[in-house]
Amino acid sequence: MPTMVVCYNRGCGQSFDPQNNNEDCVHHPGVPFFHDAYKGWSCCNKKSVDFTEFLNIKGCTRGLHSNEKPPEPEKRKEDSSLTEDARLRQR
Ligand SMILES: [Zn+2]
Ligand SMILES: [Zn+2]
Repeated sequence: MPTMVVCYNRGCGQSFDPQNNNEDCVHHPGVPFFHDAYKGWSCCNKKSVDFTEFLNIKGCTRGLHSNEKPPEPEKRKEDSSLTEDARLRQR
């Protein structure tokens, strides 16, 4: 039985078998950007005013699926990482 994991590549989000990872992941290697009413991708400059439509923009790059979470530039988690850093340094 293959163990399926979820691909974290942006624009993909499909489940894949890590033992059988073919280059069939269509995703966006860039980051999403939000400009005025537009939502778009930094990698291919595809954009839309409609969020659902934006999410449905097909990936511009084909490659291997990955279940490693890409860094999220959207969410601010500096606070937690800062305290984590400080804790490590105090040791
Ligand atoms: Zn793209
Ligand atoms: Zn994928």
